[in-house]
Order: sequence, then structure tokens, then C-alpha cells
Amino acid sequence: MKFKKIILYKEPAVSEINIIQLRDFLEEKFSLSVQIAENVFSQFNEEQVRSVSSIRIKDIKNSFTRYDYNESEFEFEKKVSNDSSLMESTIKVENADEISQVFMYDGFELQKILRYLNKDEQTLHIIMTNRLTCTFDENDNRYHARAVICANPAIISTTGIIEAPAKPREYYFEAMALKAQGLGIESAKEKYKDKFLDYNDKRLTRIVEGYLLQVIFYNITGESFCEDIQCKLNNAHWQKDLLFSQIEINSLCKKHSEILKNLN
Ligand SMILES: [Zn+2]
Repeated sequence: MKFKKIILYKEPAVSEINIIQLRDFLEEKFSLSVQIAENVFSQFNEEQVRSVSSIRIKDIKNSFTRYDYNESEFEFEKKVSNDSSLMESTIKVENADEISQVFMYDGFELQKILRYLNKDEQTLHIIMTNRLTCTFDENDNRYHARAVICANPAIISTTGIIEAPAKPREYYFEAMALKAQGLGIESAKEKYKDKFLDYNDKRLTRIVEGYLLQVIFYNITGESFCEDIQCKLNNAHWQKDLLFSQIEINSLCKKHSEILKNLN
């Protein structure tokens, strides 16, 4: 295996993610050392924070253009870089009147900003962040939320895990109906809570394990996803499938178990 080491960068704002459990999980699966590092953005200098400010997505229907941020937006970005829990004060997808109110970042551009981390070929950098990463899809000409950007450095967006795989259609209808009546959506959330992950969900560590595996398989084999829903490498488009493969099944399919065995 070309990698000797993985550096896992913490997202301290999401306390449900047990980083020690993730490190142990990886060290048990792969014969490489796993180092835990602080939130990568907290080390950013002013220029890097400016770069991050300029990759926000304001119009999901247009491919990437640099965002012309103002100074107060830059100041906020600087504060979020030091204290990522401030991201929780921004408007969530479920509360937004328009999607442009949500803080979204171009995932590939963010990856470019993080490339300075790559100093040798033997270290795989995996950044966990509560920034919502999105990528532009040429097929339907719009941005989509992404839970994971698989290359090196790889990015796992904890907000993307909540927002990218779809919730049940019935939930969206009920939430919309409640909103139309001026009511909160808590009752709909409660009704469907077994069908999708919510912010600060206790199941997040288990779910992140699957995304870590996708990142590592991608960097080793060039393939990240598995078609088999009974595999932790399954690329879930629905929250219920994500919960099924990561929580209920919680293992690799036969083919990928074999690949893993041969790697070590
Ligand atoms: Zn598989």
C-alpha cells in the first residue's frame, strides 16, 4: 500500500463524532498509523481564510465562479475558522427560505485550498468539517451537497452527511405543510427520526466510518463506491440506505472484504 500514514483532522463542533473510535477503527482495518490533528481551519492564515471566503456558492444553478465577499463576511469566516461551532448560528437548509442563505462551499475548490497539506505521497489527509461542501453536476447543471470528496486531501462534510442523502419524500411533504401553516417541523422530524440522521446524531461516528472507508478505498484502488447496499462502501442517495448499510449491516461485502484482506 502506498500510504503509510493517515492524518485525521478533527471537527470539534460535532461532539458526537468519537475521533478515538475512528482512529481505532482504521488502525484495526489497515496496517498504517493514524494520527489525529486539530481542526485544519484553525491554522489558516488570513490569505487562506480569504480563499475560503471566495469559494462560497450563492447560486446553485451556475458552475463555479469566485464569490465576491465583503469584509464582514470575511470577518465571519475568520471567526468560524477559529471556532467552527459558530457555523451552527448560520441558517440550516431546513430553515432557509432560499437555498442561497445557506453557507455552502465548492468542494473541489476547498480541496485545492487544502492541497498544501500534501508534503509527501505516503500520507493521506482526511479533513472533517461542518462546512457544507457541494459540487457542480454537469448532468443537471446544478450544485449538489456532498458528504465526501474522496481524493487526497479528502474532505468529509458532517453537514453534507445530514443534507446530501435524501430524507423520505413523505417527510419533505409533511415538513412543507407544517411550514405553510407557520408551524415548526419538529413533529415531522420526530415521526421520521428512524429514517434519517439529524444534526448532533449519536449514530454519526458509525456513519463516518463508512465515509472513511470510501476515502481510503478510493485512494488505494481508484474506486470508492460499491453498488451493494449491504456494504459499508455503498454510496447512499437516501438516508434510509445510509442507515441500513452503516448501522444495520455495518460491514463490507464479500468482494471488498477480500480486497481489504489483500491490502494488508
Ligand atoms: Zn462492497
